Amino acid sequence: MTVSPTRPGLRLTRRVSDIQVSPTLEVLNRAQALMAKGFDVVDFGPGEPDFPTPPSVSAAGIRAIERGFTKYTNALGTKALRDSIAKRYNTRYGTSLQSEHVIAGNGGKQELFNLMLALVDKGDEVIIPVPYWVSFPDQVQFAGGTPVFARTEASNRFRATLDGIQAVASERTRGVILNSPNNPTGAVITEEELEKIVEWCVSRDVFLIFDETYEFFVYDGNRHASAMRWFERYPETVIVVNSMSKTFAMTGWRLGYAVAHPEIISAIGKIQSHSTSNPSSIAQAAATEALAGDESEVQKMYVAYQERRAWLVPAINAIDGLCCADPDGAFYIFPDVKSWFGKGGIHDSQSFANYLLDEARVAVVPGSAFGADDFVRISYATSMERIREGVKRIEEALRRLDA
Ligand code: PLP
Repeated sequence: MTVSPTRPGLRLTRRVSDIQVSPTLEVLNRAQALMAKGFDVVDFGPGEPDFPTPPSVSAAGIRAIERGFTKYTNALGTKALRDSIAKRYNTRYGTSLQSEHVIAGNGGKQELFNLMLALVDKGDEVIIPVPYWVSFPDQVQFAGGTPVFARTEASNRFRATLDGIQAVASERTRGVILNSPNNPTGAVITEEELEKIVEWCVSRDVFLIFDETYEFFVYDGNRHASAMRWFERYPETVIVVNSMSKTFAMTGWRLGYAVAHPEIISAIGKIQSHSTSNPSSIAQAAATEALAGDESEVQKMYVAYQERRAWLVPAINAIDGLCCADPDGAFYIFPDVKSWFGKGGIHDSQSFANYLLDEARVAVVPGSAFGADDFVRISYATSMERIREGVKRIEEALRRLDA
């Protein structure tokens, strides 16, 4: 049956009409369509590791299936997994978390979504530093709130600051979302700045959601500062969200988690129990193994990202009209491309990305997806060989444009 989108009577809610699939991801859809037709596209789009899940972790998933661990679990996750998440934090930060502080879900994304539904009411404002990860504003909006954007500066490597947050705060501010290391810029917030923001959130009685999905990937002597350091002092304020996806190359397993005050965990657990229930039992068994096991595979990924970044940043900066700050962490670079605007039909990040796809067969994500239209995101979660090839193609395509 074909259903016309304009059929009278087909009604969608205001809630869903107000959010959108980012139109800028259109470039990536086009890139995939080209690849499906057999074109050789260098894909700098992916937000996921190009490495396989560590074998010991996959083996734990297989064992879970073989021993019949394939039924519903507690909707908030198994006690074994929640205990191992708590233990990992306790070991690193000297906290005394227990399973009641932890919920596991289908990715960090689900826990962020649940948190918005539990904490944001209609009319509430939530402050998000720009550039931001694509889902934050839509999640806030879906919950009935209003995203409010705080400036960061490329000259300060896009690190979030209290000044930027305070400049947009109002009496309707209900919370702040920080993401460090940041997707798309790689920015890593300093411990001093984070402390100031935590104290400010406490003084204003607003929540702080701290998304540390890329915590493991921090370079050049930068140190990851986690809001977990302040969790026990301010359990009503600080909420930490994390994921197995990037650190353990487990994007498809769908396993992420949140650490929060037990009352917040119960609230989001209620939401989860009526939506997805537990994350996959098999993924939970694999994640429990990953958290308990050694991190040698993760370390290998880290070394590879470090090498790629060390080659890529100067190579991009060597191309006329591209300018990229050293990203502190994650596996992205975020070059400024605006000096190409006005040439060859390029007028924004989307048309720049389209040009690269058409003329160089290279896919990048337009910065407009992250609220920063002068930039594009290049992911180096792909092999060194493809990175070299992609950079060569970008350089040639831009040279043609300049000729
Ligand atoms: N937070 C950030 C900043 C991300 O980049 C992502 C994924 O790209 C997520 C959260 C969600 O990851 P997942 O749902 O795979 O755990």
